[in-house]
Amino acid sequence: MIKVCKFGGSSLASSSQFEKVKNIILSDKRRKAVVVSAPGKRFKEDNKVTDLLYLLCAHLKYGVDYSSIFNIIKDRFIKIKEELNIDYDLEKEFDELEKGFSKNSKEEFIVSRGEFLTAKLLAAFIGYKFVDASLIMKFNYDGSLNNEESFKLIKKALDENDKIVIPGFYGAYPSGDIKLFPRGGSDVTGAIVSSALGAEVYENWTDVSGILVADPKIIDNPKRISEITYDELRELSYMGASVLHEETIFPVQELSIPINILNTNNPTDKGTIITKDCKDKNTIITGIAGKKDFTSFNITKSRGSSKANLIRLVLDIFSKYDVNIEHIPTGIDSFSLVVPGSEVERCYYDLIGELKKIDDITKLDVEKEIALVAVVGRNMALKPGTSGKIFAILGSNNINIKMIAQGANEINIIVGVKNSDFEKTVKVIYDNMF
Ligand code: ASP
Repeated sequence: MIKVCKFGGSSLASSSQFEKVKNIILSDKRRKAVVVSAPGKRFKEDNKVTDLLYLLCAHLKYGVDYSSIFNIIKDRFIKIKEELNIDYDLEKEFDELEKGFSKNSKEEFIVSRGEFLTAKLLAAFIGYKFVDASLIMKFNYDGSLNNEESFKLIKKALDENDKIVIPGFYGAYPSGDIKLFPRGGSDVTGAIVSSALGAEVYENWTDVSGILVADPKIIDNPKRISEITYDELRELSYMGASVLHEETIFPVQELSIPINILNTNNPTDKGTIITKDCKDKNTIITGIAGKKDFTSFNITKSRGSSKANLIRLVLDIFSKYDVNIEHIPTGIDSFSLVVPGSEVERCYYDLIGELKKIDDITKLDVEKEIALVAVVGRNMALKPGTSGKIFAILGSNNINIKMIAQGANEINIIVGVKNSDFEKTVKVIYDNMF
């Protein structure tokens, strides 16, 4: 059986982190396929190599002297190499990279070098074979992944080399040009590799011992989630919990490959297991997450007009301006569209202008600064009582609920409150439900 391990940027930020990663990988023979991010922050004020590479590209694009930023990046890699005595000609790689620099340098190629060089260094350090992601992670020209081709190539790479290190975050178009995943995309590379190899588990190594029940910026020392389903995790990530890249779940979900979030700095901690079904049938709430700054367009229709038709007309307008609709709470004569505030800023007056042209709308109010808080838990489905408890907690804490929603699968309860009540809402739910 094979374990696929992905190490995030903080796990590879320095030579001492490289040592920890080596110990983890070599302590289990099943850890045969390793995916890496580029070095992240070593301390709070430090920079991520990927951010520095983007900055380097901006210097090149505008013809500004890039040498100091280039040297910072180069020095970070050289330091790791020298401190660990790794036998690999990094200087040559940097010389060649620099030779290709021009105003027209391809940003995606330069940025991908963070992961590329990290994988090269780690492979040399642990004695695994380096496999370039551009040769096995194949994209179509429309930007979608060519799953069939990529799976075949990933399997072949492991068959031929037995133990491999793959750079995360990028692949290539059929032309060979580099294509990046969105930021944080090494998680997705790890998931695709896990799926291609039918891994027993996808280990995602980071700097925390698993997913927390709530945001530690709001709750002091929140509990850790020991197990969570794919669906619950997607609900939490969508509502703002920053755990894994959102697209990570799909590739492993199909084959029911569990994801284990683990801590490179405390490798014996159990972390969080993400699976299709969880054994624990008692914990009612798995996690709480939320986001601020939604805007609600509250629409009242004229008597006798068709609500369904009016909703359709209104939705067409929002769709024309490419604004995502989060929720549509409705009443007899009115309904609201709750949308992310950031998405309406650019087209606010156009939207209002078009809505005002619809005869069947008798009143239009816009309410800004609404926060949505999601309480997620698979075990609350089909059991009475949880929403009652949550509403009672908010009521007794004098928090006004502006909107209520629950998905049909009953694994989430979402409440809309004022932005200014957001932190308090998360806090009182956490304090009373955990
Ligand atoms: N290094 C990239 C980033 O910072 C990709 C990743 O770490 O997953 O977004």
